Parts: sequence; C-alpha cells; structure tokens
Amino acid sequence: MVGVVEPLVPRMQGFGTTIFAEMSALAVETGSINLGQGFPDTDGPPSMLDAAVEAIRNGGNQYPPGPGLPELREAVAAQRRDRYGLEYDPATEVYATVGATEGIAASVLALAGPGDEVVVFEPYYDSYAATIALAGAERRPVTLRPSEGRFTFDPDELRAAVGPRTKAILVNSPHNPAGTVFTRGELEAVAAVCREHDLVAITDEVYEYLTFDGAEHIPLASLDGMRERTVSVSSAGKTFSVTGWKTGWVTAPAPYVRAVQTVKQFTTYAAGGPWQRAAAHALRHELGWVEELRVSLQAKRDRLVSGLEAAGFRTYRPQGTYFVQADIRPLGFTDGMELARALPEKAGVVAIPTQVFYDHREAGAHFVRFAFCKKDEVIDEAVERLARLT
Ligand SMILES: *Cc1c(COP(=O)(O)O)cnc(C)c1O
Repeated sequence: MVGVVEPLVPRMQGFGTTIFAEMSALAVETGSINLGQGFPDTDGPPSMLDAAVEAIRNGGNQYPPGPGLPELREAVAAQRRDRYGLEYDPATEVYATVGATEGIAASVLALAGPGDEVVVFEPYYDSYAATIALAGAERRPVTLRPSEGRFTFDPDELRAAVGPRTKAILVNSPHNPAGTVFTRGELEAVAAVCREHDLVAITDEVYEYLTFDGAEHIPLASLDGMRERTVSVSSAGKTFSVTGWKTGWVTAPAPYVRAVQTVKQFTTYAAGGPWQRAAAHALRHELGWVEELRVSLQAKRDRLVSGLEAAGFRTYRPQGTYFVQADIRPLGFTDGMELARALPEKAGVVAIPTQVFYDHREAGAHFVRFAFCKKDEVIDEAVERLARLT
C-alpha cells in the first residue's frame, strides 16, 4: 500500500522475521529433515499427560491464581530444595509464568529500563535480544569462544562489559546454543562480578536436567551471596518434553518476585491452569522419566556427533541441552548463513546458522547448530544425507 509508514515501534524493528521461521519454511518446501528447531519428536511422561487431561475434565479450566496454582509453587519450591538445597517460600518467592520465555521477559522488563544495560553471553537465545530491546535497555554481549573443546568466556571480557549503567546479567546454563554447562569456576567469575557491581542475575535454567557425562548443573543462586540477587527461571518444556505447554516459573527473593509480578500480571495475568497442575505432578513423580530422557539424549548426542564428524564437520560435543555446534570450515565452507540456506538443496537437511545469535557475527560465522532431540532413525537419515557433502 502506498503511503503506509512502518507501524512498528523503532525499538522492535530488526526483530521481524526469525531464522527459525525461514529455515522451517525451507524444510517444508524442500522436504528436508529439520534439525533446526529444537523441539522433541516424542511426548512427555504419560502420567503427566493424564494429569492435564484430568484437570481439563474436572473443572480446572478457569483462571488460576495469578502467581500460579499453589500445588505448582509448592512442587517448584520442593524441587529447588531437594535438588539444590535452595529454600524458597512457595507463597512469596515462586511465580508461575507462560513458559520460561515470559519469565525472562517479565524479569527483564521489571528490572531494566531505558538507559540501563544488560550483559548477555553470545551466542544468546534469540528472545533475550528482543526482550532487552522491548525494555528499552541495551545489551552488552560477552562472547563465548571455543577453547579445549567447549565454549567458554574470558573473565576479563566479562568484567570489561560491565559499566556504571549495567543493571543485570542474563546467564543461561546449560547454554543454548553453545551446549556449555558452566563450571563452578565460571559461575564464581559471574558471581564475583555481580557482587562487586551490585548486579541482579537472571538465570535461564530450562535445560537444568539435560546434562551429560556427569556435568553438573549448578544454579547461580546457590553460590555465596547470590541467592539474594538472583532471579532463577525454568520451565516444564524441555525437562518433560512438552515445549507446547509454555509452563514456566520464576524463583527469587520476594521483592524480586513482586517486581516480576507487577509486569507479568499485565502481560498474561495467569498461565494455563491444566498445564500447571500437570507440571506439578511431573515435578513430584516423573523425575525418573526425566533421567531416562537424559540418558537417551546423551546417546542421541553421540549418534549425531559421530555422524557429523564422519560427514566432515568439526563438532563441539555439548555437555548439556540438545544442540551441537558444528564448524563448517573443514568441509571448505566459511559462511554458516550461506551453508544453512543451501543445505536443504544440497543435502536435504536443515540447520540453524549460529551467527544470528551474535552481535559480533564474525565470531560465529563458521558455525551451524544441529538439534538431536529427534528419533534415532531421523538422526541416522540426516547424517547419511550430510555425508553427501564431501
Ligand atoms: C526453549 C528455551 C526457552 C523457552 O522456554 P519456554 O518454557 O518454552 O518458554 C528459554 N530459554 C532457552 C535457552 C531455551 O532453549
């Protein structure tokens, strides 16, 4: 239409089309195997699915309390206590959200505003950049780089990223898309910076159960002096393979939860009731199922990594999540974006160019991300197809 100006507010321009939409459309168009998007192709624990059906059939269909169903808040508090030794009052220090995505968005919107800076580790989960922009704040990226087979950061670069306007730091571990599980030493470096500069940490722990080879997920809140300044976010989606349920939670000291609540009550007010009831059930009764998922994902990781190596990629074996970073240079390519766009035609497989998750795109130019939360036969077929690249 002639004369129509861009109606989108300037701070959200540039966030229009995501790489996932582009790549998934390509997958459908070309009949490719989609190892781009990170959702599982199998369902969560049956008793959890039953609990959701039960809730729907038995009157659980009206607005739950804004903070979440008490049974979910109690189950989350019990989980943080039993697994990590962290005590939270379910009445005032736990809050249910529409997935971790809303938990992170509400936290950032509540705690950072125009003129403030938020430190993130790049490559970063794509919602972080958009959420920080929505808040009118600015992001300060710290680059994760490969070193000794895994992605890590330089503590000096972290310190250099923090300035007088820094309000918060967003910490994602286990990290998507790098696959890194921060060690206690790495977390200590983050904690030291937070304490020294009086920063609030917002942690994204959605892969808290999905770690491999004995790598331990350590919540930042469990480090000295950190519980009082950490807003922890997690959700049912990845842990119980129900990414479509969008059921998450925030745990933090009461003043932070009140701040999050102030925003969250006007974004969605409440999260879906039946899913909350089912997630509460799963946190109490289905952690054995999660352990089986973890073991099976570790085997899928190895399956995909071997296949990618055989196809000529240099891979970084992740310690957590369900993504592998693959360096494309041994195959003679240099630009992951170009390769990702050509891969469906060349090999019938879809991957995500990691560079879209960086401000410093050159740091991630030669990586693509593959997901392995897929059936074995899907992984096998994908690596067979990728072997044609050489
Ligand atoms: C999937 C994912 C999320 C989103 O979680 P939801 O509960 O579906 O909103 C957040 N952070 C990371 C790193 C993820 O991979």
